[in-house]
Amino acid sequence: AKEAGRGGYRFFATEMNQRLQERRALEADLRQALASGGFRLAFQPQINLEDKRIIGAEALLRWDRPGHGNMPPDQFIGVAEETGLIGPIGAWAINEACRQAMLWPAHMNIAVNVSPVQFRQAGLFECVTSALQASGLSPARLELEITESVLLNDTEDTLAMLGRLRGLGVKIAMDDFGTGYSSLGYLQKFPFDKLKIDRSFVRDLGRDPNASAIVSAVVGMSRALGVRANAEGVEEQDQAALLLAEGCEEVQGYFFGKPMSAEEFSVLLH
Ligand code: C2E
Ligand code: CA
Ligand code: CA
Ligand code: CA
Repeated sequence: AKEAGRGGYRFFATEMNQRLQERRALEADLRQALASGGFRLAFQPQINLEDKRIIGAEALLRWDRPGHGNMPPDQFIGVAEETGLIGPIGAWAINEACRQAMLWPAHMNIAVNVSPVQFRQAGLFECVTSALQASGLSPARLELEITESVLLNDTEDTLAMLGRLRGLGVKIAMDDFGTGYSSLGYLQKFPFDKLKIDRSFVRDLGRDPNASAIVSAVVGMSRALGVRANAEGVEEQDQAALLLAEGCEEVQGYFFGKPMSAEEFSVLLH
């Protein structure tokens, strides 16, 4: 048993070492991508459900990692956060999103994801103001998507930052709503403009009565808070119809449009 234990330890250590090396390689590749323009943004249409018109897009980070192909953001945002690289990567995304949105008709909005780590880093406010200034985009057209986990720490600082950003005229959306810990009372303390209902609830709409009940409750909650509701991950006509019946204002999802290049999105607008 002792031998097996030692062997097991050796195996574990090797695996740890391998993971550490993979992480280092990922960090190095992220730095390289930042320095050489290796990132781009994809744009997913956001639709006003009542008249089915496009009202803007959510910007989603894309990375063609050399030797790995297209690497989804979920697989590198974590390491970017741990290494502090999320600051410059996020800044690039905000700048690029504003620059692209300036090429669209003036009523089109742009939503950009801001990670909780990025939100707490110094310089977010300056990053947003300089992106707006450099692009000339009206602040009201920019929406920052944050998750409920942002609200869990440093309540005072978070409130102050949300206030400063909204003071600019920038909008705040609560992303992945329903997957975190927020209650109505908690949400009431924080100023924001939109609730994005997580895809996991939308997926089961019409099949699971619980999912329908949750979506109905969240739309009701958004109304009570005086904010807009956006349902994510709409893949079927029936889901859209149910959401419309519930009074959900806005949708996103493969049924209406997958994330696409800036060029493809521009074509869609004309
Ligand atoms: P998210 O903000 O919740 O973005 C929605 C994700 O759902 C996107 O995945 C999108 O491609 C996908 N999606 C949209 N419609 C549908 C649908 O109808 N069905 C299904 N199955 N999926 C749909 P993506 O692009 O892989 O992004 C994953 C996550 O990575 C995002 O989740 C967001 O948390 C993060 N992310 C993406 N871009 C950025 C960024 O620029 N900065 C930061 N901090 N995070 C980002
Ligand atoms: Ca998002
Ligand atoms: Ca989301
Ligand atoms: Ca997410």
